[in-house]
Amino acid sequence: APVVVAIDGPSGSGKSTVSRAVAARLGLSFLDTGAMYRAMTWWMLTNGIDIDDADAVSIACAKPVIVSGTDADGPTITVDGVDVSGPIRGPEVTAQVSAVSAVPAVRARLVELQRGCAEVAPRGIVAEGRDMGTVVFPAATAKVFLTASPEARAGRRAAELRAKGVDEATIAAMAADLTRRDAADSSRATAPLVRAEDAVLVDTSELTLPQVIDAVVELVAE
Ligand code: C5P
Repeated sequence: APVVVAIDGPSGSGKSTVSRAVAARLGLSFLDTGAMYRAMTWWMLTNGIDIDDADAVSIACAKPVIVSGTDADGPTITVDGVDVSGPIRGPEVTAQVSAVSAVPAVRARLVELQRGCAEVAPRGIVAEGRDMGTVVFPAATAKVFLTASPEARAGRRAAELRAKGVDEATIAAMAADLTRRDAADSSRATAPLVRAEDAVLVDTSELTLPQVIDAVVELVAE
């Protein structure tokens, strides 16, 4: 069976950076499923769909063509052929993505695309998100649940944003939004963010990035 490494956790746990590095180390493909929920949200906002109208979102979500490029050295994401890797990280999408991702029809559509990406990955895939181990890849080769203390997570996000030259007021607003998003993701009815029973918990608060990468690579090798 192809190798599937399922990595879940809240925002700021270091998931994306760790998953990409692990994929590169092991020669596997890499899938950022949060980017797919963000791309769907971007398309809804661009097309004037009322995000608070779950029926409208359910119907509309069949339309956009979302394509994830899964090369660990340079992952890409397009919607109807347009590169959306920039706009999906903006505050508008970030503020609305939890509402869109709580809609079951959205999840059903994206889960199917995610499994398709794993099927065509030549050597296997590292997939990261909120429900990789619980819903999308229940039979994954290895499952990891990354956590970090709220302080460590907020601190990392702030450092990332500061490095990009983002001002302090925006950083504070984004920290508040992150807390709200994690609460929404953990409490929704469909595929909430929870650790799969068989996922190994890795608390990254006191670890350096290379230490976390080594720990995950070791879990896959076991
Ligand atoms: O990982 P990222 O912060 O980019 O994810 C954005 C949002 O997408 C999350 O807050 C969550 O609402 C949603 N998401 C999800 N299931 C996944 C990945 C992301 O619901 N597997």
